[in-house]
Amino acid sequence: MSDEHEHQQDEHEDGRDDAPVVMTNAGLFARSCEVIPGGVNSSIRAFKAVGGTPYLVAHAEGPFVWDVEGTRYIDLVQSYGAIILGHAHPAITAAVSQAARSGTSYGAPTPGEMLLAEAIRDRVPSCERVRLMNSGTEATSTAVRLARGFTGRDRLVIFHGNFHGATDALLAAGGSGVATLGLPGTAGVPASAVANTMVVPYNVVPELDAQVAAVIVEPVAANMGVVAPAPGFLEGLRAECDRVGALLVFDEVITGFRLGRGGAQAKYDVRPDLTTFGKVIGGGLPIGAVGGRRDVMETLSPLGPVFHAGTLAGNPLATAAGRAALAELTGDVYMELLARARRLSAALRDACAAAGLPAQFPVVGTLVGMYFGDALGLDVPTNFDQAKTTDESLYAAFFHAMLREGVALPPGAYEALFVGLAHGDDVLDQIAEAAARAAASVMSSR
Ligand SMILES: *Cc1c(COP(=O)(O)O)cnc(C)c1O
Repeated sequence: MSDEHEHQQDEHEDGRDDAPVVMTNAGLFARSCEVIPGGVNSSIRAFKAVGGTPYLVAHAEGPFVWDVEGTRYIDLVQSYGAIILGHAHPAITAAVSQAARSGTSYGAPTPGEMLLAEAIRDRVPSCERVRLMNSGTEATSTAVRLARGFTGRDRLVIFHGNFHGATDALLAAGGSGVATLGLPGTAGVPASAVANTMVVPYNVVPELDAQVAAVIVEPVAANMGVVAPAPGFLEGLRAECDRVGALLVFDEVITGFRLGRGGAQAKYDVRPDLTTFGKVIGGGLPIGAVGGRRDVMETLSPLGPVFHAGTLAGNPLATAAGRAALAELTGDVYMELLARARRLSAALRDACAAAGLPAQFPVVGTLVGMYFGDALGLDVPTNFDQAKTTDESLYAAFFHAMLREGVALPPGAYEALFVGLAHGDDVLDQIAEAAARAAASVMSSR
């Protein structure tokens, strides 16, 4: 294409920007698809797993999101767990706007980042030192580099069905039942990037050797539905890591400050060497963190040889929002969230059972999962092979039926449902009523 042609096209595009925008989900999504690959900046949002066109959010408040057409949904996505107080919570909005008035990024240390790191350390005793960064993905990739740099070993052990963000070394394909090594989980990851990544089944303690730098695990798996750690699993990982001198890394990007003040490691009383955080600790702004043993953490630059840096790391808006979120999350709040998770699960279970729709909604602490179909009888999944037997088309039907009833579930059968402080009794009642109608409509059209 000639330069001149390109130039003309640019003018044409500029002209179109001034044209009145037709505010429909379909229209705006089609336009997004012309500039953003697949119309989304995170692939799950594209509705590929459930079919149809996503709604585009115009604004949100408390338990609700409104799309660009003005339709209101009760939102159980809650930014995949980044939101726990509800959307546009006044404490977060105030903290962010106050921080913004003092500047949005400096490239120098701030008291605000110190306070958030202290807030994390105070609540999670294994985190003697905390490094802040911009996403959960950055946290897991930093933890990998740190574990390898600290131990001088290359091998990583991860679990089939666990998700650790878009970190090359952790995007390895898992085999069924057996351990696999070195198979890329996606195009673009070279075999060399995962040559030292071993994928083993969840809820079975693998036998390690002295090549292993780190075992990285979701202490409660929340990206294959919600799967609890089997009794003894996390303790067994701790003992096996200690036996061979490997580091135990808990990926608490979802569970951190969601299961309780101390995360999964407090609930199960197992102390990892390193912990990755994200989601809740940013109050809905972009953030990630690695925390852990002082000797390991001080292997990070500038004290040690393992490089880490980030232009926006410790960002004043994100750390202000994170501090505001953690300040709201008292012990009483978690008791309330536990009760609501159980209520949500029971409401969905009862609604589906009454309609004859086979579905389970496993609860682990404040997390609620989903499993559709009856392939496991009355059991809930304990690993990825079992989780994968969920009936994805049945879920897709339920998802769309719920959306028509004004309840937004995550557009994928393996996601968790996020109940938060904004999902009060009245909202949970509305979800129950919507679920009863949705389940009946799914069954009547089968
Ligand atoms: C969301 C998630 C990540 C990735 O975090 P991002 O902020 O999306 O990069 C990592 N690990 C787990 C367990 C997650 O759920």
